[in-house]
Amino acid sequence: MSYTYDDQNIFAKILRGEIPNKTVLETDHTLAFHDIYPQAPIHVLVIPKGPYVCYDHFCQEASDAEILDFNRTFGKVCEMVGVKDGGFRTIANAGENAIQEVPHLHFHILGGRNLGRMLA
Ligand code: 5GP
Repeated sequence: MSYTYDDQNIFAKILRGEIPNKTVLETDHTLAFHDIYPQAPIHVLVIPKGPYVCYDHFCQEASDAEILDFNRTFGKVCEMVGVKDGGFRTIANAGENAIQEVPHLHFHILGGRNLGRMLA
């Protein structure tokens, strides 16, 4: 899978302020915002600000500061959006087989209802 980053993707435009978003939390290296087409009562996306296509790309090339910031922000966002009591699902699609729509790493946080079994 290619790690070539396309800076015209929609999340790059959100990060540059060219497209609005409903921000949950923004830090030096990370942005969390509500998904525009929520698949559950709570559906938030957490993205690094750096140009990473997918999670393995991020794991290989992000700095320690970016990784720490991303993980801490992810934890804070889970507290803020209220998914911890009932439980939630985290998904990060990568590449064609996972039908990744936006080629900028994003973790989905889904909650607020019974999400069913993902792996049957
Ligand atoms: P993927 O299929 O790449 O894992 O998920 C992409 C997600 O981005 C989808 O859940 C889709 O609803 C969301 N999305 C696509 N365009 C926009 C947008 O312009 N704004 C926001 N907030 N979410 C978007």
